[in-house]
Amino acid sequence: MFDFNANTKFVFDDNDNFNYVQERTCPRCKTTLSEFYRTNSVGCANCYKFFEEEIRTVLLKQQGAMNHVGKVSTKHISKVKIKEQIEQLEQEKNEAAKDEDFMRAEILKNKIEKLRGELNG
Ligand SMILES: [Zn+2]
Repeated sequence: MFDFNANTKFVFDDNDNFNYVQERTCPRCKTTLSEFYRTNSVGCANCYKFFEEEIRTVLLKQQGAMNHVGKVSTKHISKVKIKEQIEQLEQEKNEAAKDEDFMRAEILKNKIEKLRGELNG
């Protein structure tokens, strides 16, 4: 049920998924909603009011990255975050292996496997 019109703008979200937004423009600084999604920043104080709902959504996503994954309600978002976490842990694991810190590498490996399980389950 897509309602495409002249104000519909297509954007890529942070997972490179094709997405669309109903374009809106801040009347004061002319920052557009798709610009906000792309840059995660607004042009003026008025934007905070104008894009209030969208900003809250983005903030929730960012909080999700910091909190435990289980607290993120949207499945899609948590999967993205788990993937990011796995990538980061893989990097740490490689570094630990390079330093011959096998204990740490093993702990990290277990963490990665647990996250992979969450991703598939
Ligand atoms: Zn503005």
